[in-house]
Amino acid sequence: MPETDQGLFATALAQFERGAELVGMPADLRSIISQPKNEIIVNFPVRMTDGSFRVFRGYRIQHSNLLGPYKGGVRFHPAVDLDEVKALASWMTWKSALCEIPFGGAKGGISFSPRDHDEDELERIVRRFTHSLGANIGPDHDIPAPDLGSNAQSMVWMMDTYANSTGATERQNVKRVVTGKTLETGGSPGRDKATGQGVVFCLQHWADEVGFDLSSATVAIQGWGNVGSATGRILQVHGTTVTAVADHQGAVADEDGIDAFELTDWVRERGTVKGFPRAGWIDNDDFWSSDVDIFVPAAIENQVRADNAPMIRAKVIVEAANGPTTLEAERLLQDRGVEILPDILVNAGGVIVSYFEWVQNRSAQRWSLDDVDYRLRDVLWRACDTVAEARRDYEVESRRDAAYAVALSRLQAVYQQRGIFP
Ligand code: NAD
Repeated sequence: MPETDQGLFATALAQFERGAELVGMPADLRSIISQPKNEIIVNFPVRMTDGSFRVFRGYRIQHSNLLGPYKGGVRFHPAVDLDEVKALASWMTWKSALCEIPFGGAKGGISFSPRDHDEDELERIVRRFTHSLGANIGPDHDIPAPDLGSNAQSMVWMMDTYANSTGATERQNVKRVVTGKTLETGGSPGRDKATGQGVVFCLQHWADEVGFDLSSATVAIQGWGNVGSATGRILQVHGTTVTAVADHQGAVADEDGIDAFELTDWVRERGTVKGFPRAGWIDNDDFWSSDVDIFVPAAIENQVRADNAPMIRAKVIVEAANGPTTLEAERLLQDRGVEILPDILVNAGGVIVSYFEWVQNRSAQRWSLDDVDYRLRDVLWRACDTVAEARRDYEVESRRDAAYAVALSRLQAVYQQRGIFP
């Protein structure tokens, strides 16, 4: 069976089982913690610009609210399905637990390609999805955020739709029903770059631990959207050279360096790295075998597989995307001594600054960008320290297994103290 045929949730469960084994979690607790609490599917009609109607399918998986309200992004992509969203939701639970953010885990999405729709259609799709979710989301219950294919504007439409269906006296209180909003509508400074910023903080922590010089390193990045481009720009500011970038249309490379800011401007206008005039066009195999120190998958899941893992020459893989590495590829890379910095740690910057946005909305405050960045680094470096300690305590090499052990031991302790009702 091809390695990706088993489905993403099976990969997530296999990772979970390894962590559960380490912390000695009893079998009954494993089945309670690993499965989502609620799986919501909505089918909703939307009027298209040509006057026709189309029915869309949306999902919201509420995986856990043990540590706080359900929390996680909404993804707009044609491959969104129940299996994918279940896996993504579970990773949100482990991420918040690992970083000691008082949130649970959730994820949602709509199965469609946002590139195929104009702005008006997109707005109607997002608003109608929000309306269909109804009271399944809420500022202290389940809080969506942007993910692949969605953005700050999508969050503003969700917030406005939700606010308009609440009573006038409650309206000011419900802004925090979504995070990742624009600054003008109640978003937090630093949320747009938070995931990329977090990726860089984790990489700096790792570099410090193993004695690696980031300022003379090279990096290849797959995905030049919110996460990949922010990671590239911030790394460039720290002296790292971006030498190869791939997206859904192909890849570009320049061994002397691609200017991350110029590439961002190009992609903002054209939607792809294709045609970027200040770098050469390379094929897929050349991208995977790029002669770089750091490889950052920042696109979609199951991209690092058994077929391309042997081509990777980087010393470290930094999982900015969720679930970018298959189980088989992980084994191959570990055998070769390639380090993997796991997604539930590395890309947690998004949910951490989402939490900061939620706190600011709740207390009617506006923090400065410096304040947000400082607090983000503090939370992430603490999580990195905890993972390093767990590697020693549990005597494991894998940073993923250590990260799971930390997250699951926290959830296990809460279950054991609270018990199961009734
Ligand atoms: P985005 O939509 O802004 O960008 C996605 C990028 O991936 C684009 O450059 C696109 O061209 C590329 N891509 C898509 N399919 C591809 C393919 N088959 N091959 C190569 N490239 C492909 O999305 P994003 O918000 O940057 O999210 C990227 C990843 O990071 C996702 O896995 C997401 O779940 C994860 N993530 C995002 C956030 C966030 O705050 N946005 C937080 C945590 C994790």
